[in-house]
Amino acid sequence: MSLSGVVMPAAGALILARWAAERRLDHLNRRSVLAHSGTVPEAFKETIDAATYAKSVEYTLAKARFGTIEATFDMAVLAVVLFSGVLPRALEWFMGRFGESAWAMAAFLFGVGVVLSLPGLPFAWHAQFRLEERFGFNTTTPKVWWLDRLKGFALAVVLGFPLLALILKLVEWIGPAWWLWAWGCVLGFELVMVVLAPVLIMPLFNKFTPLPEGSLRGRLLALADRTGFRARSIQVMDGSKRSRHSNAFFTGFGRFRKIVLFDTLMQQLSEPQIEAVLAHEIGHYKKRHIPKMLAWSAASLLGSFYIVAWLSRQAWFYQGFGFAPGGIVPALLLSALLGGTMTFWFSPVGHWWSRRHEYEADAFAAQAMKEAQSLIGALRKIYEKNLANLTPHPLYSGFYYSHPTLSEREKALLEGTTELEVAGK
Ligand SMILES: [Zn+2]
Repeated sequence: MSLSGVVMPAAGALILARWAAERRLDHLNRRSVLAHSGTVPEAFKETIDAATYAKSVEYTLAKARFGTIEATFDMAVLAVVLFSGVLPRALEWFMGRFGESAWAMAAFLFGVGVVLSLPGLPFAWHAQFRLEERFGFNTTTPKVWWLDRLKGFALAVVLGFPLLALILKLVEWIGPAWWLWAWGCVLGFELVMVVLAPVLIMPLFNKFTPLPEGSLRGRLLALADRTGFRARSIQVMDGSKRSRHSNAFFTGFGRFRKIVLFDTLMQQLSEPQIEAVLAHEIGHYKKRHIPKMLAWSAASLLGSFYIVAWLSRQAWFYQGFGFAPGGIVPALLLSALLGGTMTFWFSPVGHWWSRRHEYEADAFAAQAMKEAQSLIGALRKIYEKNLANLTPHPLYSGFYYSHPTLSEREKALLEGTTELEVAGK
């Protein structure tokens, strides 16, 4: 068997392996959740009542069932697209009609992306208007939902399409070293977006308002002052426009930093608890988590472009999927389609790193508040109101959770504050 003959079976095996691993993780998680489902686990007895706990178990299981159906459907679509030969035929037809210019090829890649995003729409609809609705989270109207899709599409046309064309132009201009330049361009684009997204893009979807007048405002401004954070960049977002889920996040860097608190969060938490959440987000800023994540993303982006460039020179790889050798379009297309089957296996590394950042931000918050109880109270409320899974299987949370579980965070906070007290004495 030639090298190109094993390409498709190997790709099939990779896709199946990921699907099987996901199902196995689901199974472990379901068992872990069911094993604890009878009564509220000891650690959460004072945090959460039996009815809410039962609902969180039901929510976790319902999401898992839906996730299995969606992942299986996605796998079937991917298999058909990759193995039916439709992609090489579509590319050939497209080149015959529109030529091989960078703009034409960008249009082809963009078009394939749009077509492949369509089968997922009914699932996204169901998730929002059936699943989330059933558990009382949905506040999105169909109009808002469709407008979100339209805005997303418009942004892809305005930002994604020219970037794609630029990458393809670089191949013409630069030759074999195109991937280094492409990396530089995409990285530059990413940096600009980190700065511009909070100012230009996020307001397309949500309304951002300064902190409302009152005692809370005074308290939060004092915290910002104490920790050296520019108070003007603390804003409240109308998260309730789409969902009753509550959240807070930190974005941007340098002068462009911004902390966003959801209005849903403001309704659920007491003033000291909101202050503790803000302190956690300021912790992300102080510990420079965004620049660190950007450095990580820059490194993996460089690796990805190198792989695409290398694959584009492998005739056996192109032939294996039925493409004529030459050009980077098939390599870009296949990497986009198959990338997830590879990166999936590395997700525990990324999440481990992200969870470390959460611990650091939690510890910073406890230090800034000089106590851990407000943050613990806030976290309990947030995990409860979001019906978060309180008893995930460790392997499952390793693969999927960017944040530690509630009990892990409480434990770390309590240990941390004991250390604080010891250090203070
Ligand atoms: Zn955080």
